[in-house]
Formats: sequence, structure tokens, C-alpha cells
Amino acid sequence: MTTASAEKRYTPIIILLLVAALVAVIALWATDKAGRQSASSHKGKVLATSDEVFEWKLVTTWPKNFPGLGSAAENLARMVDEMSNGRLKIRVYGGGEIVPALGVFDAVSQGVADAGHGAAYYWKGKVPSSVFFTAVPFGLNAQETFGWLHYGGGLELWEEAYAPYNLVPMGGGSTGVQMGGWFNKEINSMEDLQGLKMRIPGLAGEVFTLAGGTSVTLPGSELYTSLQTGVIDALEWVGPYNDRILGFHQVAKYYYYPGWHEPGSVLEFIVNKDSLASLPEDLQAIVRYAARASSQDMLDEYTGRNNESLRELIEEHGVELRRFPDDVLRALWEGTREALDKLVANDPMAARVYASYSDFYKGVRNYHHISEQAYINVRDVVLEEEDF
Ligand code: CA
Repeated sequence: MTTASAEKRYTPIIILLLVAALVAVIALWATDKAGRQSASSHKGKVLATSDEVFEWKLVTTWPKNFPGLGSAAENLARMVDEMSNGRLKIRVYGGGEIVPALGVFDAVSQGVADAGHGAAYYWKGKVPSSVFFTAVPFGLNAQETFGWLHYGGGLELWEEAYAPYNLVPMGGGSTGVQMGGWFNKEINSMEDLQGLKMRIPGLAGEVFTLAGGTSVTLPGSELYTSLQTGVIDALEWVGPYNDRILGFHQVAKYYYYPGWHEPGSVLEFIVNKDSLASLPEDLQAIVRYAARASSQDMLDEYTGRNNESLRELIEEHGVELRRFPDDVLRALWEGTREALDKLVANDPMAARVYASYSDFYKGVRNYHHISEQAYINVRDVVLEEEDF
């Protein structure tokens, strides 16, 4: 009884003391936080007013100022210049200016250039797993590949695969689903692919060879002449926006879809690890954010421009659009499985990357059945031939 009434008497005092202690703790925390914030903004100020200017060379696998694919490097240079207030200047060189188009990987790895822009699958002879970071036939589309890279562990694996070469990879744009390519004869069955010599890089090139053709990897600058002179019989490059500019409609009659072989090719920025480490932290962050922004910008540009170029190719240049027959696509899928099996059996890193890619693919395919894919199908159901 006595104890209980004593408790009652002291309870308000205890609560008051507790509240006072809490207020004191909050006040101390707020002071500390303010202190830390002012310290970090002070640090930021010091860096921002530092007048040290860094100059980088960036080499690309594309011709200088090449629309679409070439815009990512130019955009990166401009964004970095703007965000850093001119403290990091990146000079962009087209393929062949300092190093050959397909010499970009080695040049950046060896420090001949600080950074590069191209496509990871060009280097599959050195890094077999690199094909997963550009395009896998019948694989992830652009949206899904970026999901895997940034939220599915893909980028960490890419960094690991390039670490022995002193390179840091970053996504460098995407073309979206590409076109199946330019042919001078119709492809009605697998028979029509026999003996055909086609420019088709990456894992798809191996699939094409398994299907009875011959695949070659050539840079974009050599494609038109190669097809015109019969060095190759067919080629794939990107899609209407880029293909129209390169004039393939002048040397080939049929334009095939869909791009089974490159369902959402992701390009790459590669940065020499020492060049990146030599920058102050804020400039390193600017490089990473600018790469991400220019990467997204490329996909936006293709999305914005492809259809107008397709219309022009068909209506003004008489290009004949064709879809690959389903049984040809099924046979190419069988070839893809075989090429993937061979790839993962011969390279432990490729096996690890494939495991991650495949796991992500299953999940995203499951969800996209009822979201992206279902929506696009439904849109066709309700609109049919109507305009929106
Ligand atoms: Ca391509």
C-alpha cells in the first residue's frame, strides 16, 4: 500500500526526468548532425572551388559524331563538363583516330586512353562472359537488362570480369530491340541461311555459324562497302535510325525483324581504373552519374527516332520489310542453347554470369508476362488498326 502510493507520487517526476533526458539527447544529436552537415558542405565547397582541371581522352568504336551510338560519349563529355564546372574535360575520339575501332578495350586497359565507349560483346575473345553485358539472343530487353545490371547483381559481375584488365565498366546506352538485319534474298527456312556470310557479332554470331552460316565481326564503318562488294552477303547493324544513315537500303533489299539476336543491346563505358582513382571523389561521382544519364538518353533517342526512319526506309526507299518465320526463330533458339552451353562449359566466369542472368530472366519474364507484355498485347486488341 505504502509502496504503491509512493510510486504514484513519484511517477510524474520520473516522467518529467525522462522527457528532459530525451530532449537533451535530441538536442545533442541535432547539434552533431548540423555540425557534420556543415563539415560536409564545407568539404564540398573546397572541392568545387578547386581549380585543378583534369583532362581525359575517350576513344570510341564508332565514327566521330556518329548519331545514336556515338551520342553517348559526346553526351557524357558534355554532362561531365557541365556538372563539374569544367573541372573534368573529356575529349572524344572516333574509331581510328587514336586507336582502331576494335582496339578500344586494349587502349583503355593499357592507359593509352582514360575511357572508352563501345559494346562489351566485341571483346568476347578476351572476356567470354562479356556477351551477357551486351546482348543474349532471345534474352533480356533493354529495360530488363538495366534492371539486372543495377538491381540484380549484373554490374558487380561485370566489374569483376573487367577487374583483371584494370577497367571499370558502366552501362553506356541501349538501342532497344534491334532489327534482324539486311538481306538480298528472302529467308523462308533454315536452308536459306546455309553458306550465308553475315556480319553478326557476339554470341549470335556463333549461333549463326551453328545454323550453317558464317559470321564475321566488322565495325560499322566497314559494313556498307563490305556488303556492296560481296565481302559479306548480309549484315545486321542496329535499327532504322542508324541503318538509314549508313545507307544499307542502297545495297540490300529486305529488312528483317525482329532482332532475335539483340533484344536490347546495352553499350558500355569503360574507364581505366587508375584514371578514375586519380579524380577527387566528387568528380568520380559525376562520371558515374553522367554515364547513367547518357545511357538512358540513348535509349530515349532510339525510342524517339526509330519509327520515322522506318517510315522513310519503306515509303521513300522501297525497302521490303519481312518477319523471320517462326520455325527459323525456333531453330535459332536451339542454336542459342547450344552456344550458351558451350560458353558456360568453357569459362567459369561466364558460368557464374549466366547463372545470375538466367535467374533474373526467369523472374522478370514471369512478371512481364502480366505487365509489359500483357499491356502491349492488350493495346493491340483494343486499338487494332485504329490510331490512338
Ligand atoms: Ca547489332
